[in-house]
Amino acid sequence: MDNFNSTLHNSPVHKIAIIGAGKVGTTFAYALILNGLAGEIVLIDVDKERTEGEVMDLSHAVPLSSPVRIWNGEYADCAGANIIVITAGASQRPGETRLDLLKRNTAIFRQILPQVLEYNRSAILLIATNPVDVLSYASWKLSGLDAARVIGSGTVLDTARFRSLISTRFNLDARNVHAFIIGEHGDSEVAVWSSANIAGVPMQDYCRQIGNEICGDDRQRITDEVRNAAYEIIKRKGATYYAVGMGLARIVESILRDQNSVLSISSLVPGLYGIEDVYLSLPTVLGQNGVERVLELNLDDSEMADLLHSAAVMRQVIDQLDIQPL
Ligand code: NAD
Repeated sequence: MDNFNSTLHNSPVHKIAIIGAGKVGTTFAYALILNGLAGEIVLIDVDKERTEGEVMDLSHAVPLSSPVRIWNGEYADCAGANIIVITAGASQRPGETRLDLLKRNTAIFRQILPQVLEYNRSAILLIATNPVDVLSYASWKLSGLDAARVIGSGTVLDTARFRSLISTRFNLDARNVHAFIIGEHGDSEVAVWSSANIAGVPMQDYCRQIGNEICGDDRQRITDEVRNAAYEIIKRKGATYYAVGMGLARIVESILRDQNSVLSISSLVPGLYGIEDVYLSLPTVLGQNGVERVLELNLDDSEMADLLHSAAVMRQVIDQLDIQPL
């Protein structure tokens, strides 16, 4: 194995462990195969047989991309991983409340985390399982790791959806649309229109320049479409996984390449806007040590009120959980 890596890579081999080889975990693994960021990918799941099938299928894509070793592993394989991504979880049962699902997923995390930490306490933990903000907070509390190294995928997906919808509305390259969804990854998330811009040109100025005003209704439609995207996709195909898989790969890229990209991941809010002791998403500089800095956006009054509401919702949910360190 060492020969395999040393002959094919000049740079250090990056190892990613993925706990949960369901739709999100395997789509993320596929994105990693495509972007060639990792030299080793280990998938760990309670369903060993299905994971074996996923690994067989994924590894057959490798000759058509770039070299990466991918296998169906055990928790001991977390040793040496740079980033451990958790996508494992239970899905909502008919009639089950979100809080009951959260309690079940917290119980799953209580099983998973000690097994991960037994073999690796230096990796960055990246959580994708929902509700992602609360489970990221719980992972930080349960693990006792430095908060800068325990993060959630947060609203990276929602921000991508926001940029995608704005770019479609104006027929522009989405990469030139700079706009963030902040707060909870969920119903209380906040679309920050006040600082949305096209390549540095404030949205209102851009609209004036092209003689195409974006009215309040238009904004509301886009905001609603972002917030309801998951429901609409799940209604049609049962789950969402492509965009979140790419979102996770983008987060991992910023960490492994120390890019210091600004991404709306979920992390411990360091007292900004008077918010503390909750995880939620704000534009965050992400580098090789995890969270390098959380940025403070200049919010208008209604965005500010909505963000405080989102933080209060997070706090209320956390207060209903029993999260004692492991
Ligand atoms: P899935 O049911 O396809 O996969 C979940 C996997 O977890 C299964 O393979 C299951 O066997 C495994 N698992 C369950 N308990 C386990 C345990 N104790 N140890 C190891 N593995 C275990 O679900 P999915 O569609 O892949 O979604 C996974 C999670 O990601 C869900 O919570 C979903 O809501 C969330 N999600 C998050 C985002 C985001 O933006 N953060 C987007 C989409 C989905």
